Amino acid sequence: MITGTTRLFGIIGHPIGHVRVPMTFNERFARDRIDAVSLPFDATAAHFDAAVRGLQALENVAGFVVTAPHKQAMVALCDEVVGEARLVGAVNTVRREPDGRLVGDLFDGRGFVQGLLACGHAVQGRRVFLCGAGGAGNAVAFALARAGVAALTIHNRTVARADDLADRVARAYPACDVRSGPKDPRGFDIVANATSVGLHEGEMPFEVDRLAPGTLVTEVIMKPEKTALVLAAEACGLPAQQGRHMLEHQMDLIFDFTRLGAAR
Ligand code: NAP
Repeated sequence: MITGTTRLFGIIGHPIGHVRVPMTFNERFARDRIDAVSLPFDATAAHFDAAVRGLQALENVAGFVVTAPHKQAMVALCDEVVGEARLVGAVNTVRREPDGRLVGDLFDGRGFVQGLLACGHAVQGRRVFLCGAGGAGNAVAFALARAGVAALTIHNRTVARADDLADRVARAYPACDVRSGPKDPRGFDIVANATSVGLHEGEMPFEVDRLAPGTLVTEVIMKPEKTALVLAAEACGLPAQQGRHMLEHQMDLIFDFTRLGAAR
């Protein structure tokens, strides 16, 4: 029940209709009897600054998740940017301090890695093909390197973005063999889609029919729950990881960061 003491935890983006954060967080609040509610905030780029300043002004805002297209713009609106957000240059979670200061971090990549580990897929020492160098690609690349993958090959439709991401990850994690490369996922232990290709039925970011048995195929897209890539991997008898794990395994990290668990 929403009362006068209920704290607000939002997700801000545009469009916002597809997001799962309100359902996921409200279920958790109900289960753990936390006096908080999660709401979607639809803000276009033109009104994003004003919307964030409004949230900052509200004493009962615990924080909010930031989604496309605002993750990069949020960096400049934070009073402090910490953790992976500093490396990647994007914020997906904001904590509002009692004095109104906004502190931002990025949990997408760590959620992705946690999701793999929780499902029993080792990451350390693995060779990874990553397709995508946008927001999700950046987050996943830095988190994989941080988690100790031995090699990371990044492919992106716009090659310059893959080159730039590979350079930045290599500088931050010199022990990892990072490079940009062609759209050829053969010869890796893990092949990961971090593009938006797959949001529409039948779209494939890359082919999986000639991958070695046991190659893990991973996805960031959550809707559809099983993308064409995941279905194709399963049809080939390959292990596949759906996009929902990436969000689900960010929850504990976001709870800790925003101190939502304390909102009883
Ligand atoms: P973004 O920053 O706009 O990047 C989009 C990426 O997709 C870029 O690499 C882009 O390549 C590529 N792309 C788009 N259309 C393409 C096409 N027709 N052919 C080839 N490549 C194409 O978006 P994002 O923030 O990274 O989000 C990507 C997806 O990840 C979204 O579906 C989002 O919902 C999902 N996501 C999921 C989670 C989760 O927790 N599961 C978290 C974050 C994001 P170019 O650079 O060439 O344009």
